[in-house]
Amino acid sequence: MRILIAEDEVKLAAEVAGFLRNAGMAVDCAANGVDASHLAETEPYDAMVLDLGLPGMDGMALLTNLRSKDIRVPVLILTARDRFADKAAGFRAGADDYLTKPFQLEELLLRLQALVRRAAGHAHSEIRVGALALDTTSGVATLDAMPLRLTALERRVLTYLMMHAGRTISRTELSEHVYEHDHDRDFNSIEVIVSRLRRKLGRERIETTRGEGYRLPDHAA
Ligand code: CA
Repeated sequence: MRILIAEDEVKLAAEVAGFLRNAGMAVDCAANGVDASHLAETEPYDAMVLDLGLPGMDGMALLTNLRSKDIRVPVLILTARDRFADKAAGFRAGADDYLTKPFQLEELLLRLQALVRRAAGHAHSEIRVGALALDTTSGVATLDAMPLRLTALERRVLTYLMMHAGRTISRTELSEHVYEHDHDRDFNSIEVIVSRLRRKLGRERIETTRGEGYRLPDHAA
């Protein structure tokens, strides 16, 4: 999953980004409202962390603008503004969650994970696809209850395919959700990651739809 952090406190943004990356997420950062708005409109993020006091464009205006354009990315407002009136305004503008500073990184992570799985249509924190299981809070994936040893990119690809099991996912879509913005995207490397995953999971678990992409059959045994 890929997250956008809109935060002008550079140290805090780096700290949050490091923590989320460590938990397996791809993370892009924007230090002003204009860049954040542009990224949110052009890249399909799985969730966005939004500070309200941003230079260039205020977070609330940014969010209102995104929703007016029907951009549905789950948005968690992360701000020092802790008055009820601010929270109510945030939810009215289209926020999905609201966390006030100071906060625990672990709590931010749990909230983001819940937003992402909810947006993909999963109520339970564990996703099962046949013999595959994914604990979306710990990131641990198992096959027949045996933990899989995966690299960060393999885990991101498998997580995205499991979250969207049954649907054919194009290589473009996969790369947009597993690579960070400045990463040199290369369809071959998605192919390489999928082939490494197949060696670990069994070839038949990830179907190739010729010319279209990959699919995890949701009936997979
Ligand atoms: Ca700020």
